[in-house]
Amino acid sequence: MGFGRRLPEFITGSSSNKFTVTAAAAFIVLSLVLIATVCSPISYLPLKFALSGTKPPEQTCESREQRSSYLKHRSPELPPYLLSKLQEYERRHRRCGPLSESFNTTSPLGTHNDFSDGEFRTDDCKFVVYSPSQGLGNRILGLSSTFLYALLTNRVLLVDFGPDMEDLFCEPFPNSTWYLPETFPFLFQLQTHRFRASYSYGNLLKRKDGDSSSSPALLQIFLQDKYNEYDKLFFKDENQGFVERVPWLVLIHDGYFIPCLFQMQSFRSELEKLFPDQETVFHHLVKYLFSPSNQAWGQITGFYEAYLAKAEERIGFQIRVFEPKQTPFTAVMKQITSCTQKHRLILPQSDEVTLRNEKSKSILVASLSRKYYEEIDWMYGTRRRQSTGIAVYQASHEGKQHSGDNSHNMKAWMDIYLLSTSDVLVTSSMSTFGYVAAGIAGVKPWIVMIPDPYHPRGANESACERAINLEPCFHFPPWFAYPDPPGTGGPVGRCEDVSWGLKLVGGHKTRR
Ligand code: GDP
Repeated sequence: MGFGRRLPEFITGSSSNKFTVTAAAAFIVLSLVLIATVCSPISYLPLKFALSGTKPPEQTCESREQRSSYLKHRSPELPPYLLSKLQEYERRHRRCGPLSESFNTTSPLGTHNDFSDGEFRTDDCKFVVYSPSQGLGNRILGLSSTFLYALLTNRVLLVDFGPDMEDLFCEPFPNSTWYLPETFPFLFQLQTHRFRASYSYGNLLKRKDGDSSSSPALLQIFLQDKYNEYDKLFFKDENQGFVERVPWLVLIHDGYFIPCLFQMQSFRSELEKLFPDQETVFHHLVKYLFSPSNQAWGQITGFYEAYLAKAEERIGFQIRVFEPKQTPFTAVMKQITSCTQKHRLILPQSDEVTLRNEKSKSILVASLSRKYYEEIDWMYGTRRRQSTGIAVYQASHEGKQHSGDNSHNMKAWMDIYLLSTSDVLVTSSMSTFGYVAAGIAGVKPWIVMIPDPYHPRGANESACERAINLEPCFHFPPWFAYPDPPGTGGPVGRCEDVSWGLKLVGGHKTRR
């Protein structure tokens, strides 16, 4: 039936077309409602997205579906109790998080500017906000630790990422977002000294207000490398009762403080239930929380397919020199080559017979500097290409660490993930960048002891150490946290690369 013939009948309102009239009216009303909805503020969309006009969280995450074909080592299964706690967490995040109705009605959005009393107390939703600082590796360690703290204390994790962290990761929690809305009071002051003076737990303890029966609505927990003796008391069991009553915590830190949580009676038994194998804590957390966004994944897989995929074996070198001006290039290269040779990670050219049967290799050099790539390419690639199937690549060389730069962080994320596709990993001492790559890869790295003008190493120290597991080192433990005495079955020990640091070493598992 043609459109031209139906129109007159519609106008005359014949009974056969009552349905059409109703449908048209419904259509108009619906359209008006739709237009009104689109034009009015979208109540549950975080204002970060609504205001900046950026797209809402991605609905699909390609890397989560595809990564197992790029990461060579199969992850151990998630322990069943951990899995059930993660599912419970996801339900809580949906119920309390920024896309929920409860968040908009009970959170301190918009107008308030004082957290000194319990005005923003919420019935059963409590939050911990992670406010990042330092580089990407530090941030990933800090966020992983904060998430575990949220899991242990029934809080909801929100992140205060600046524009330099946009589009790096998929949203980790289904049907919700982890972004703190931009209307959060004091958002731009969370890290300032003034904010710290008023709201930090350390200062509260210093003023002796930290044990009063009334608790504030918000506390800043300052745990950065320069945290003071009062800030460190956060890691004391007796203070967790006070902290627990505060609905909003803002954690400012950049390290992997999980070994200290294992040493607290408040959390120890729950942690042992969550992680029966205490050497894969970070591996599980980092893979659960951090999946490259579709944009990052496109870049990672593009580079991988073009350069790394063809080889039978992939070797990743992560070379991080903290003080490049004071650290001779030759001294760093000496450490790298002695490690490589001693552990036969790449066979010397003199080993011709064995070389003929060698697998083809691609070497990825991740470093801020191009010099290391050129040298390694010369040693193992260009000079030997006729005799061996070795090719050397570098995805970026940024020169120096930038702050507040999204494309720089995207390149860092790309390097971390490309490193994690390696079969063999060589990383740098003290570098969180390397810890994260090894954690995602599930590969125990060879940690090269990079010369450090501020912490000279002994003359007899080996050029590198094989990490005993995938756990990162916590570089700045409080003065009262020590490694568990050997033989006691405690899970906390010393790090391979930082003599004063602490890491999880397996506890009971290692004793068997
Ligand atoms: P750490 O300082 O080695 O512990 O690692 P972080 O990731 O916390 O900070 C170093 C920052 O410098 C990174 O986040 C990057 O921005 C940059 N960076 C350091 N090494 C590399 C590298 O190999 N590749 C890239 N693309 N960036 C790097």
